[in-house]
Amino acid sequence: MSSLDQVPVVAEDTDLSGKAKKRLFVGLVLGTSSIVCLFLAALWVVPYLGLSTIHPAIPWVFGMLVLAIILLVLWVSFGLVINILVGKELPLFKRMRGVTVRLYLPLMTLVGRALGLSKDMVRSSFIKVNNELVASTVRKYTPNEILLLMPHCLQNADCGIKLTYDVHKCAGCGKCPIAGLVEISEKYGIDLAIATGGTIARSIVIKKRPKLILAVACERDLASGIRDVYPLPAFGILNTRPYGPCFNTQVSLEQLEESIRTFLQPRYLPEEKPADAYPVVRLHRR
Ligand code: SF4
Repeated sequence: MSSLDQVPVVAEDTDLSGKAKKRLFVGLVLGTSSIVCLFLAALWVVPYLGLSTIHPAIPWVFGMLVLAIILLVLWVSFGLVINILVGKELPLFKRMRGVTVRLYLPLMTLVGRALGLSKDMVRSSFIKVNNELVASTVRKYTPNEILLLMPHCLQNADCGIKLTYDVHKCAGCGKCPIAGLVEISEKYGIDLAIATGGTIARSIVIKKRPKLILAVACERDLASGIRDVYPLPAFGILNTRPYGPCFNTQVSLEQLEESIRTFLQPRYLPEEKPADAYPVVRLHRR
C-alpha cells in the first residue's frame, strides 16, 4: 500500500443538507404517528361488534382507552415536531429526545424502509435532530466531564501501535487522524478513547463516567450508540469513508473542535487555533 496523494480531511456530511435532514425527520415522525393512530383505531373498530355481545358498554370503554392512546401519540408527535422546529426542548415538551431515541427511531426506520429510504438516511436525520436537542438542552461542561469516543477504523490500517488502552501511544506520524485527535485532547484536557466495537465502547463509558460524549462513527454505530447511552447526552459526528466502511476512515478535526467549543465552559477555552493548523492526513488507497 503506498501513499498516493495528500489531501486535507473534508468536513463530513451526507448527501442531505441539515435542513433537509430535519424535514425528513419531521416527515417520518408525522408519517409514523399517522400509521400508529390508524393501527390503534383499527384495534377498536375491528372487535367492536364482538365486544358488544359481552356487554354494550365494553366497546365504548375500549374505545375511550384507544382514543386516550391516540391522543397521547399525537401529543408526543406534536411536541417532538415543535421541539425540532424550534431547535430546543420547550417546557411543555420535556424528554422528547428520549421519545425520539427509544420509540421513534425504530418505528421510523421501518416506515422509512417501506418508503424506500435507506437506513443511513433515516439514521443521519435522527443524528442531526438528536445533536440539536442535545446542544439546546445541556449545560456547559468542564473538560473532565467530556469524553471523546472514537472508532478504531480511524487508525491507519498499517499502524501496528495498539491504542485501545492508551491512545497517547500514538507516535504522531500524521498518517491518520489519531495524531490530530491526541493534539485536540491535550489542548482541551479532554479524555480521548478508542473503541474497537460497541461492547468496548460501553465499558469505556461505564469506566470513565462522562457527563457528555462527543462520538465519531458511521450512521449505524452513532444511532445505536446514542440509543445505548441514553439518557446520557451523546453528540454524534459522522466519519467519512473514502475507502469504504471500517477502513482508514476520516473525520473533520475542525468539526470536532467546533463541537468541543460548543460544550466546554468558556473559562476552559484556550485561544482559537487556526483551522489549517492540524497535520494533513495522508490518504492511502487499498
Ligand atoms: S498518527 Fe501514525 S502513529 Fe498515530 S495512530 Fe495514526 S498511523 Fe499510528
